[in-house]
Amino acid sequence: MVRVQVGGPKMDKKTNILLIFLALVIIGYLGHQNYTLNQTKIALEIELENTKQDFVSTTEKLSSDIEEFRDLLVTTQSEKITAEQEALRQQELLDGMTNTLGLYQKLATTDRELLAKYSKVYFLNELYTPKLSITIPPQYTLESEKEKMISAEVWPFLRQMLDDASTTSTDLKIISAFRSFDTQSTLKSGYKVTFGSGASTFSADQGYSEHQLGTTVDFTTTKLGTNNLTFEKTPEYKWLTENAYKYGFILSYPKGNAYYIFEPWHWRFVGKGLALRLHDEGKNFYDLSQRDINEYLLTIFNQ
Ligand SMILES: [Zn+2]
Repeated sequence: MVRVQVGGPKMDKKTNILLIFLALVIIGYLGHQNYTLNQTKIALEIELENTKQDFVSTTEKLSSDIEEFRDLLVTTQSEKITAEQEALRQQELLDGMTNTLGLYQKLATTDRELLAKYSKVYFLNELYTPKLSITIPPQYTLESEKEKMISAEVWPFLRQMLDDASTTSTDLKIISAFRSFDTQSTLKSGYKVTFGSGASTFSADQGYSEHQLGTTVDFTTTKLGTNNLTFEKTPEYKWLTENAYKYGFILSYPKGNAYYIFEPWHWRFVGKGLALRLHDEGKNFYDLSQRDINEYLLTIFNQ
């Protein structure tokens, strides 16, 4: 066993003082170290706290920036929408004006006579002629050697009607179509119709005006020939009363009408829309007001 003896008898006071001094130095050093550490710790904590606060305020700033940006975006978007809506409204307005202008132009260039009601006081001007008339192919007419004319715009409807009628053994023949004012005058003389001293007293035959339009035809059958007075009793007349409206044709002067003598052979083109309405409502063309009728002018040649 080794015994270590500290501060043996030989250890003197000096050594003890040195040891105490050393101990104090160490304690002092450690104390200082501890203080420094504490200080550092406090400084770090303060810094951390500052950083935290910085972070919080940065986050707050960021959120408020985002909010602001969102508001801006919403405002911008709503401004964009408003601008787009305004542009759309302007466009619609422009379209509407263009359409209206188009309608006016179409109406201005539409021949209002095409759907005019004629009477003893209102008849077609003697200078009137159809815009364009064509010769009806002779197989559709009674007297194939005599040229019959019809408005070029009406012809497709008439031809379709006659072609469809012929598939049901309906033997319709055109005996009269477009008549010029001159032809009518001659006819009138033949019928000993008295002329007055001027246009205003001209006792117009309503049917004549319709023929001058180029949209009206008189029918007969091969069997009846030129004498079509009994046309009312034929199956062809029955077929027309049941089907003509589908092609835009109407009987201008049906039996019992208040305006003119009954003419079962006399059919006028008024367009499919108006013909259908008259058919559905069981009305006569001359029963409607001119204002009502004119609504069909723009679409008269619609298929
Ligand atoms: Zn006629």
